[in-house]
Amino acid sequence: MATISPIDMQDLCRICGERLDESNKSVDIFESGPTDGVTYAKLIGSTQSHDEPNEGDGLPRRIGIECANFLVRLTSNQTAVNEMGTKLPSIQIS
Ligand SMILES: [Zn+2]
Repeated sequence: MATISPIDMQDLCRICGERLDESNKSVDIFESGPTDGVTYAKLIGSTQSHDEPNEGDGLPRRIGIECANFLVRLTSNQTAVNEMGTKLPSIQIS
């Protein structure tokens, strides 16, 4: 069984573990995000299954663009669900 050195791990997508190379577009989760002031690291932290990543925790700091898009969809759905939850009680059923 091959061991993965920390350097090799930085070439992997943090979310799915896919190897990132020239053919796989990737983003730095601490330096980029879908909008100004919101990094992908924050998005990961806003999902219910993950804590917000720490820079320097030794885990990959990049994710593939497909996972980035998935993350945006996931978190925007969560927002939609939360908004629905707050709006529902005001709906009058006649
Ligand atoms: Zn991925």
